[in-house]
Amino acid sequence: MTDEPFETELDVYRDRVSKPLFRLFGTYGLGEKWWLVLGLVTSVLAYGTVLVTPIVLGTTIDAVFTGESAYTLPLVPTAWLPTEATAQFWLSAAVVGGALLGGALLQWVRGVSMNFFAHGVMYAIRVDAYEKMQRLDMTFFDNKETGEIISILNNDAGNLEILFDNALGDSVRIGVIVLGVTVALMYTNWQLALVTLGAVPLLIGFTWWFMRVIEPRYTRQRETVGDLNTRIENGLSGIELVKTTSTEEYENERVRGVSRDVFDAQMDVLKLSYFYRPGMELVTGSVLLATFVLGGLWVFSGPPLFFSGELTTGDFVVFMLLTQRLTDPLAQSASIVDWYQNAKASGKRICGLMDVPVRIQDAPNAIALDDVDGRVEYDDVTFAYETGEGGGTSTERPVLDGVDVRVAPGETVAIVGPTGAGKSTVAKLLLRLYDVSEGAVRVDGHDVRDVRLADLRSAIGYVSQETFLFDGTVAENIRYGRFDADREAVVAAAQAAEAHGFIEGLSEGYDTRVGERGVKLSGGQRQRIAIARTVLQDPEILLLDEATSAVDTETEYLIQRSLDRLAADRTTLVIAHRLSTVKGADRIVVLDEGQVVERGTHEELLAADGLYANLWGVQAGEVESLPEEFLTRATERPANRRD
Ligand code: ATP
Repeated sequence: MTDEPFETELDVYRDRVSKPLFRLFGTYGLGEKWWLVLGLVTSVLAYGTVLVTPIVLGTTIDAVFTGESAYTLPLVPTAWLPTEATAQFWLSAAVVGGALLGGALLQWVRGVSMNFFAHGVMYAIRVDAYEKMQRLDMTFFDNKETGEIISILNNDAGNLEILFDNALGDSVRIGVIVLGVTVALMYTNWQLALVTLGAVPLLIGFTWWFMRVIEPRYTRQRETVGDLNTRIENGLSGIELVKTTSTEEYENERVRGVSRDVFDAQMDVLKLSYFYRPGMELVTGSVLLATFVLGGLWVFSGPPLFFSGELTTGDFVVFMLLTQRLTDPLAQSASIVDWYQNAKASGKRICGLMDVPVRIQDAPNAIALDDVDGRVEYDDVTFAYETGEGGGTSTERPVLDGVDVRVAPGETVAIVGPTGAGKSTVAKLLLRLYDVSEGAVRVDGHDVRDVRLADLRSAIGYVSQETFLFDGTVAENIRYGRFDADREAVVAAAQAAEAHGFIEGLSEGYDTRVGERGVKLSGGQRQRIAIARTVLQDPEILLLDEATSAVDTETEYLIQRSLDRLAADRTTLVIAHRLSTVKGADRIVVLDEGQVVERGTHEELLAADGLYANLWGVQAGEVESLPEEFLTRATERPANRRD
């Protein structure tokens, strides 16, 4: 792992994204557009009702209590209104009550529609991003930290949800209220309205300034939180190493360090926020006070200063009530800008993920692979891993160089060689987890790049070096990939894999939960479950990568017996360190530094007295160590590995 910034393919594609929110809206939002339309329309109406109460109260005070003007209601013809004061009073009360009730109902519809819209969009984005992630090449995962991918699917999707739900709803609210209040105030008394509305540009200017100064602090805060997540995730996945090396204090110190950075960054943000809120309140409070003083003087003793005309008590009440309604929405505009910026950054990451090209996928006219005979050929194969730097184009020294291996149907061929020779890479190329740089890998004479990926992979049973089990029961793990298999088939597979005995001994037999990644089982048990899974798959080609590496001699014997049974009538490629397990192979291919250096049967290779004979001598205890030339190679740091 490196602490230096390392530009991956995802970073490159993310930086190329422009207008991510438009793009996401165009792709995913249009499907939910009717929820959005309903949400927006009801928002406008719901927030419009907020203005009804102050206006009706104002007009009622003037007509019913002070008699300063005639009784009117906005948008209602005067002829329809009662002339008697008590009736006017009750009508006003009914209108205010109706507005409150209607407002509540509209708010409910608004909330439901906006939520359906936002969550519907998020559902579609999340599912699509996950599907895309599943199709991405192994190279992508080699170069990307899992924490970051999870963060795209979780946090980034969450940020968009906030934008589509809260921010969109709040923008409409602010728009409607500011516009409605402006119109109502101008209509009531345009001169005093100019004083009150003077607050709006002031507040907008203040908010704009605040966003500019706080933005870099927010970016820093997000970065520190990201660092903290990565640190915690690393600490958790390495918990066993931490405990066994007693490095708890060292890890605590590291988390303490990044937590301190988070604290400092958050305080930097908060210090400004503390200043912003009261600042906003001071501005609006001052305007409210100015409106109160000028309006009050006006009602008492006629127009003050350069004002002219009349201001009734009711108008004065309308002003005081509406001015207050203006403050809160404007103060919230800062959060909207903030949500928007967050969502934009997240949208870029999501679109970046969607744009990363998938290179390993079915060719346009991919061939179906039926009735596989099991002929496997590596034809002059050269391969180098891509490091991912600079958009995943940079490749290093070849890991395999001109490798030729041919396996006839039903044959067992072993690949052996010192560590780092490229043995596992040979296996991964057959599964087409990576594509060759030169040459070709063929199954039944078809280049693996020309056949349907799903057909290819289901024809190959792969038991890998690191056995992975999903959190679920033993039976579910054996059935993984053959989900329709019944209990008898599962038990038969477990028996063939020499796993039935220990499974029966578990607390709940086949229904025992194995824990995350199978932690509740031993390495040997996990391997046997993986073998049972492969038995159930019944593939034409078997690919065994160090399948007996994690077990004792007895278990190794059991596993070997089950594998021999499994390999008996199918093409088998065994990648092994322990030469004793491949002694009986039809042919053994010896790899060294990515090249085939020897090939033949066990006896032929011993007679040749080359690398294989030396490796065999060390493992059989006949010689103490490999000759110096092999040792130096094994201790060299591979050129293409990032530490
Ligand atoms: P071992 O016996 O130790 O498992 P191996 O012979 O199976 O070794 P490989 O795993 O095929 O060796 O690795 C061959 C070389 O490729 C090594 O130098 C390794 O560092 C490099 N390598 C393996 N996987 C990757 C990867 N995903 N990205 C970059 N380099 C890799």
